Amino acid sequence: MIVVLKQGASEQQRGDLIEWIKSLGLDVHLSIGKMQTVLGLIGDTATIDTELIEGLAIVESVMRVTEQFKKANRKFHSDDSIFEIGGAKIGDGNFMMIAGPCSVESEEQICAIAESVKASGAQMLRGGAYKPRTSPYDFQGMRDEGIGLLLKAKKLTGLPIVTEIMDLSHLEHFSEVDVIQVGARNMQNMELLKQLGRTKQPILLKRGLSSTLKELLLSAEYIMAGGNEQVILCERGIRTFETATRNTCDIGAVPVLKELSHLPVIVDPSHACGIARYVKPLTLAAVAAGADGIIVEVHNNPEKAMCDGPQSLKPEQFAELVKSVERVREAISS
Ligand code: PEP
Ligand code: MN
Repeated sequence: MIVVLKQGASEQQRGDLIEWIKSLGLDVHLSIGKMQTVLGLIGDTATIDTELIEGLAIVESVMRVTEQFKKANRKFHSDDSIFEIGGAKIGDGNFMMIAGPCSVESEEQICAIAESVKASGAQMLRGGAYKPRTSPYDFQGMRDEGIGLLLKAKKLTGLPIVTEIMDLSHLEHFSEVDVIQVGARNMQNMELLKQLGRTKQPILLKRGLSSTLKELLLSAEYIMAGGNEQVILCERGIRTFETATRNTCDIGAVPVLKELSHLPVIVDPSHACGIARYVKPLTLAAVAAGADGIIVEVHNNPEKAMCDGPQSLKPEQFAELVKSVERVREAISS
């Protein structure tokens, strides 16, 4: 249930109302926005008399919410969420460029890429340490050693880092990681999501290969319900009948997610198309559609990459991409 308060409601009146609602055994999610103050009532609201609440002097309106996701819902939180990560912001017009290799391969590799993407304007470094490879015979990542190398690259460049977690038992290695990624294959690993709800780091949640947007939002809700409200949603392409690209980039997901949720939405054009020359057009489409950021694979030697070389941009191509993104952002803001 959502209770919208009148503009002039005092802090004391609001506090009294919240206390009373809590005394009925419900949880209250308070959202103070630029235009509206909204209370989200969480729990079994079936026995609550909406007319009684509507009759209170400080209440503007009351709505019963039928949607299953609440904390991620824009109806509860009309303003875009903004998260601050390593000095950079994402959300509500703050655009974040995340770049780096599919996998961390060596100290030289990750540090060289980190320096080049930073110089081109990236605000965060990506790099897989624990890798979810389709074949068990493929490179499985450098695991905790890879996280150590990402931390070295962070120290060298000042860039915050994002890397994927695949199993709860690895969580202890992620304590210094700025953003924890949940990959497409784990989007519905509910136990993992619940535990990440207890962490303090922002979570980059990728859409599952065959998941609907509602399922993505419900997975975000799992994390938020545990207490961690810093979730970044990521469209990374879905499985369709099309085989010309690795996946099908659902650009429509961007405006839909932004309408339904206040959480930042980013796009991963690299995994969406799987081919380096298509990364730029998809990136620009995502920016024009209103994405809050991009996560793109960049490798200093794509031909020799241990994972996802064909979809990786070279550092100079990434530098060009950043300039084009800026031009599209200027065009849509005017
Ligand atoms: C990745 O980002 O390296 C990755 C494996 O992504 P996804 O989960 O989208 O396949
Ligand atoms: Mn990859």
